Amino acid sequence: MNFQPYPFHWVPAAGQRHASTDARPSGGYPTGMEVATLCGCRLDADNSELAWFWNTCPVAIGRRTRLLVFRCMGRALSRDR
Ligand SMILES: [Zn+2]
Repeated sequence: MNFQPYPFHWVPAAGQRHASTDARPSGGYPTGMEVATLCGCRLDADNSELAWFWNTCPVAIGRRTRLLVFRCMGRALSRDR
């Protein structure tokens, strides 16, 4: 039940979806909760359903890609052994 594909969560805030490594309460970040995002901001989360249709923060995409690359490299290395 604790499976996490990436070491961050998505948090809709300020009109975009950002990535954050803050601990997330079950059910998601509640509306109004201040969350530190990977793009370097502190934003109030918006847990409304509409918020999940917002565009992804471009910086968050870049960081996410880098995280994915690191994960893939780690997997490849362990497979080569
Ligand atoms: Zn962002």
